[in-house]
Amino acid sequence: MRLIKKLVSMARRRSPWLFHLNTGGCNGCDIEFSACLAPRYDVEQAGILLVGSPRHADILCVTGPVTRGTRAALETIYAQMPEPKVVVALGNCPATCDVFAGSPAIEGPLDRILPVDVYVPGCPPRPHDLIKGVAQAVAILADQQPRDRRIIEGVNQ
Ligand code: SF4
Repeated sequence: MRLIKKLVSMARRRSPWLFHLNTGGCNGCDIEFSACLAPRYDVEQAGILLVGSPRHADILCVTGPVTRGTRAALETIYAQMPEPKVVVALGNCPATCDVFAGSPAIEGPLDRILPVDVYVPGCPPRPHDLIKGVAQAVAILADQQPRDRRIIEGVNQ
């Protein structure tokens, strides 16, 4: 059993799987995130894989300030991810809501709703900053044991 756990931990470190969610940003961060996957940066050659289902993902990469319309999807996606999992806030929007702060349509910042492990500041952050953030998430993930982390009750509810 211990050997299996060790193998799973090694696989996570070598090939983390990401799920990306835009929670209502301007798409600037998403374009930079896409650039990480394109041939110039090509993170896939380092084993970092973007997956289409949160049920397969180790790392949740969130862009945007979390609007009312996206909050439910965010919570569902987070709940569907298996433990252990790491949340990365990509850009200023999930960290502070940035230009969207003060809008009645905004439920963020992200840490009001989910526990955030890594912040990558910038509007938008550059691809190599995003890659550095994912590398930090991988380091956290490799040492992380499953823990009881619940969705934080939002103050706007
Ligand atoms: S941080 Fe800037 S670039 Fe990224 S979604 Fe927000 S406003 Fe757009």
